[in-house]
Amino acid sequence: MKFDKSIEAFSEAYRVIPGGVDSPVRAFGGVEGTPPFIARGEGAYLYDIDDNRYIDFVQSWGPLIFGHCDKDIENAVLESVRQGLSFGAPTELETQLATQIVEMFDNVDKLRFVSSGTEAVMSAIRLARGVTGRDDIVKFAGCYHGHSDSLLVQAGSGATTFGSPSSPGVPADLTKHTLLARYNDIQSVQKCFEESEAIACVIIEPIAGNMGLVPAKEEFLVALRELCDKHGALLIFDEVMSGFRASLKGAQGISAVVPDIVTWGKVIGAGMPVGAFGASKEIMSHLSPEGKVYQAGTLSGNPIAMSAGLASIQKLKIQPNLYDELNAKAKRLMQGFEEAGNQAGLNIVTDTRGSMFGFFFSDKPVQNFDDALQNDTKTFASFHNKMLNRGVYLACSSFEAGFISSVMTDAMIEEAIEAAKEAMMELTHG
Ligand SMILES: *Cc1c(COP(=O)(O)O)cnc(C)c1O
Repeated sequence: MKFDKSIEAFSEAYRVIPGGVDSPVRAFGGVEGTPPFIARGEGAYLYDIDDNRYIDFVQSWGPLIFGHCDKDIENAVLESVRQGLSFGAPTELETQLATQIVEMFDNVDKLRFVSSGTEAVMSAIRLARGVTGRDDIVKFAGCYHGHSDSLLVQAGSGATTFGSPSSPGVPADLTKHTLLARYNDIQSVQKCFEESEAIACVIIEPIAGNMGLVPAKEEFLVALRELCDKHGALLIFDEVMSGFRASLKGAQGISAVVPDIVTWGKVIGAGMPVGAFGASKEIMSHLSPEGKVYQAGTLSGNPIAMSAGLASIQKLKIQPNLYDELNAKAKRLMQGFEEAGNQAGLNIVTDTRGSMFGFFFSDKPVQNFDDALQNDTKTFASFHNKMLNRGVYLACSSFEAGFISSVMTDAMIEEAIEAAKEAMMELTHG
């Protein structure tokens, strides 16, 4: 495969955009090589500007559950474009999409749309703080909730659970309100509640997809719910990635645990910039203009984005078997990767949830971020490069989940498995 045009485009981009990209992971920092610059997508395929074709297991990091250029979504968007791009005034589309979602969840009476997952989570946290009148929050190491200040946190020094900034530019004064706990470890959460009496909320990716795919254990979520109730803290499920991905209802279609606030993004906009957060009407009534918690957005509920989301969610709802079909493909792919690993003598652990899949080059199960950090990132980088060269586009970091889209055929899955077998064999046998 040739990447000449992408290499050229990357250096051009580098001159005018930091790192050549508008979101860091795209720069291929975690793997070898240059990111292919994309010309277009079509169904399950991605085409770069050198005219290489890839089976796309990234799907814009999750949103494209129907693949690229789905006709129903495309038509809804085009029709909407002709009516005007933005009004900054209410449209019926927002009510329609909100209704579609509210109908699905007993614990969500109302929701508000924003333009990204980051905004959804940031706003949900402000709401939780406003409702409870408390400042502290608990998050889990390895969970990603967007790039807002109080969530860019890493473990603090020594034994303390209070976090410190994971990025320059984030004041420690802000992150001191963020306590860090360990995923799937209820004692670590208990400890946070011992250290602070002012915990407004615990936020979790109930099916973590940002340290690779690491689902929370049911008994852990149950215990988390109990702890929150005991201490009067709200439980936030960040389903920006798992929402409409792990199942139609996201983690809530799999777990019996009911969160107080839910955030969505990615699939909810079908590739357009949309995020949302929702809760009971009591909680949501605190939000401006009904209540005093301020939150706003010039382009929030943008009609084009709403049209895309509406077409996508409606399409998801009329296909009751869709997630089983997607999961069967995800399972087959991961089983194939395991076979490939066995043949080549590489340790690999895999998991799936609905249309999400994940694998680690590791010899033990991954239950939290510490485990995830043990994965063999060097082997992953070479594997990624070899797969790319065989026309298989995987997430360019071993700390990301992968996705199956509805337009992926069994033949494509087998093709990817064959590529994996060759790639892994090359890794260990040259
Ligand atoms: C992607 C993601 C976000 C951030 O969403 P953006 O649209 O990138 O701002 C937040 N939470 C989770 C779980 C995500 O996967």
